[in-house]
Amino acid sequence: MRGGVIARLREIVGDAGCLVRPGELFAYECDGLTLSPKRPLAVVLPTTTEQVAAIVRACREAGVAFVPRGAGTGLSGGAHATENSILIECSRMNRILEVDAENRCAVVQPGVVNAELSAAVASLGLFYAPDPSSQQACTIGGNVAENSGGPHTLKYGTTTNHVLALELVLPDGSVERFGSRSGESQGFDFVGAIVGSEGTLGIVTEVTVRLTPIPKAVETLLVLFDDVVGACRAVGRVIRSGVVPAALEIVDRRTIEAVEASVYAAGLPLTAGAVLIVELDGLPVSLAGEIAAIRAACEAERCQAIEIARDEAERKRFWRARKGAFGAMGRLAPDLYVHDAVVPRMRLPAVLEQVCEICDRYGLKLANVFHAGDGNLHPNICFDRRDPDELARVMAAGKEILEACVAAGGVITGEHGVGVEKRDYMHLVFGEADLAAMRRLRDTFNPDGACNPGKIIPTTRFCVESDPKARGYDAVPIA
Ligand SMILES: Cc1cc2nc3c(=O)[nH]c(=O)nc-3n(C[C@H](O)[C@H](O)[C@H](O)COP(=O)(O)OP(=O)(O)OC[C@H]3O[C@@H](n4cnc5c(N)ncnc54)[C@H](O)[C@@H]3O)c2cc1C
Repeated sequence: MRGGVIARLREIVGDAGCLVRPGELFAYECDGLTLSPKRPLAVVLPTTTEQVAAIVRACREAGVAFVPRGAGTGLSGGAHATENSILIECSRMNRILEVDAENRCAVVQPGVVNAELSAAVASLGLFYAPDPSSQQACTIGGNVAENSGGPHTLKYGTTTNHVLALELVLPDGSVERFGSRSGESQGFDFVGAIVGSEGTLGIVTEVTVRLTPIPKAVETLLVLFDDVVGACRAVGRVIRSGVVPAALEIVDRRTIEAVEASVYAAGLPLTAGAVLIVELDGLPVSLAGEIAAIRAACEAERCQAIEIARDEAERKRFWRARKGAFGAMGRLAPDLYVHDAVVPRMRLPAVLEQVCEICDRYGLKLANVFHAGDGNLHPNICFDRRDPDELARVMAAGKEILEACVAAGGVITGEHGVGVEKRDYMHLVFGEADLAAMRRLRDTFNPDGACNPGKIIPTTRFCVESDPKARGYDAVPIA
């Protein structure tokens, strides 16, 4: 039966669109979460909605589960294969189908790379606002599935604020459209439900996105602090001042050192314990007053110095350091566990101190670079997974970090999703009734769990106990 499905997939996408050799599949064993890799049965690379629908029907006929995938930059294992499943990679569905400047929207296939969309519409004075730091590689389909954020989420919101309509191949192989170009939903807001559902409700094959006018003026400030806690306190003061910056990002000393030793080096001062990047945008006339407010807030927290980007080249240099930070951390250790949790902004200084204490206690190397304006922490633990003792400490510290964030009134993920990584921590924030409601929503689209099984909703603890018929596809053990 399984050999039969490969032959059928080849008929649909051709030999070049169906990868089955071990060497080819190796690259698809995981996404940005490198723990618990799993080799898929095959990877298919469709180019049209019709092909995706035919692939889904072929998988169903063969009783094989299927997992949607974009660029594989996800950090929570959402695009991990499960045993004997087919990965449906949408990266060849990479056409911008329409740009409608009058209605400020674009219709794109899911494999369009995030940064390429903004580049394509820049000459019209427009851009696509959600800007994950992975935007040079990640796809709009992956962004939709994860409801991705980015440095500019503080002012512009996450992906869900920029998706107007969707086309979805449902897990039974039928094709449905949701939402409208105007952004008004008639009846239930299905677009809102699909955005952030991590590929568990179907496969997104077309997205109508909102485009935003490029701001008339931008000012980017680099503020140096003695330590990360002072920088966090300044973030609270900035928000209290009433200014809404486009971005408020913090980079700590260990990250600065890694960046400055890497190809992303931007001349960040090695004397700073932390830097706060503040970006302001809007009408030129309003920015001078906002800069003064930022200056007052940062000086009240005894910042070391404030630099203002003199031109676009300098602004890009500051951002290259921020957006290259995860890549630069590759210099610190063979593996990186990028955590993602959100706490109320006022709790940032205390929670960060706790995170540092936890990592010190477990003897782990920690680097922080995060969306401070949103209270979105990214404690990055540098480690070597070949050392089982260190790996066990990484996992134990990660659990304590999540528990500390939840105890501070936070949530277990800000933008990287639940995937397999946080699935078994869902009980920290949700009760049995909440999880059962999520399961019922998922079942409406994906009744037997064949589409991206084993993600988001735990099968342990609550669900298996409360639903003894826990389905075959979903009862996949996660290493
Ligand atoms: C260096 C680095 C920096 C990052 N910075 C940020 C950041 O600032 N903000 C942020 O939010 N994230 C960030 N991420 C995480 C990641 O880039 C985002 O989650 C991104 O949206 C994933 O897109 P992708 O195309 O790589 O999707 P993948 O990783 O391939 O898939 C992600 C999820 O989407 C599902 N999926 C993919 N395509 C489809 C589709 N067509 N239909 C249905 N489901 C689909 C998959 O099943 C999976 O569950 C970062 C990652 C890295 C490596």
